[in-house]
Amino acid sequence: MRPVRLTLTLLLASAAIPAMAEEVNIYSHRQPELIQPLLDAFTKDTGIEVNVAFVDKGMVERLTAEGARSPADLVLTVDIARLSQVVDAGLTQPVTSDVLSKNIPAEFRDPGNQWFGLTTRARVVYASRERVKDGEVTTYEDLADPKWKGRICSRPGTHDYNLALVAAMIAHHDEAYAKKWAEGLRANLAKPPEGNDRDQAKSIWAGECDIALGNTYYMGQMVRDPDQKAWADASRIVYPHFENGGTHVNVSGMAMTKAAPHREAALKLMEFLASDEAQKIYAETNDEFPVEPGVARSALVESWGPFTPDDVSLSELAKLRPTALKIMEEVNFDG
Ligand code: FE
Repeated sequence: MRPVRLTLTLLLASAAIPAMAEEVNIYSHRQPELIQPLLDAFTKDTGIEVNVAFVDKGMVERLTAEGARSPADLVLTVDIARLSQVVDAGLTQPVTSDVLSKNIPAEFRDPGNQWFGLTTRARVVYASRERVKDGEVTTYEDLADPKWKGRICSRPGTHDYNLALVAAMIAHHDEAYAKKWAEGLRANLAKPPEGNDRDQAKSIWAGECDIALGNTYYMGQMVRDPDQKAWADASRIVYPHFENGGTHVNVSGMAMTKAAPHREAALKLMEFLASDEAQKIYAETNDEFPVEPGVARSALVESWGPFTPDDVSLSELAKLRPTALKIMEEVNFDG
């Protein structure tokens, strides 16, 4: 056997260096343009190529079907429930890394090291600058008050971002309270839920409603887009809090697949994404909150002022998701 292996090694060393270049394959639930600047910086630093497949739906199904032959090394996604679904399906492997445990605070990573948060984002209220006074919105609970009748816009209630918020409402109160809240919120809607968070800002701009639920970073995306800047300018960000808590936050994050064919290179990319360099790119190009406490938020995000993140744990939110979905279906939120 030995001579054969030697020959093969020599052949590879002499003729096939490009084919041996290190690479990492990502299945991403995130829009490719959001992560490309990060991946370009990583390739420039390390020479490791990164291939991204945008997987909009069916991440778990795809990884399950591919099994041990999956080309994917890493999964990148938003929302704690989506991260948990990949982990719970047994499709990830634990990663032990001093860099990851140093740069990512414990509340933003899995105690079993299966998933790691990269950024956080708050689910806030976009409030009409013209029609909503300062201090008029303070709590999430208040959004179900009849004083807002016909004044609220929302994307579908069964979207992951809203389900995580409902899950937090259950955690702070109980299932019955959260259901009443969802009913109250639905009764206050100006129109049936449709579109994404930015569409709600557009509706405020168009005068169709006065307040909407939305994630913080979309405000940054709208400000940068000449076609959408007016939508952003029509609203201001209000950080509501739970009556007995803080402002609801969720994460974007990563996990290494169980099958990962390029484990070492994938670990390097994971550590890069948690580095100051990458965390700064997340902050500056997408206005997300870096998980690395030493990295500053963008100037735009700073301009929205401070807030206190809610302390319901991410794993609690993931656990309560099925109950939150049941509630939104029972109250026919999207109907
Ligand atoms: Fe988003």
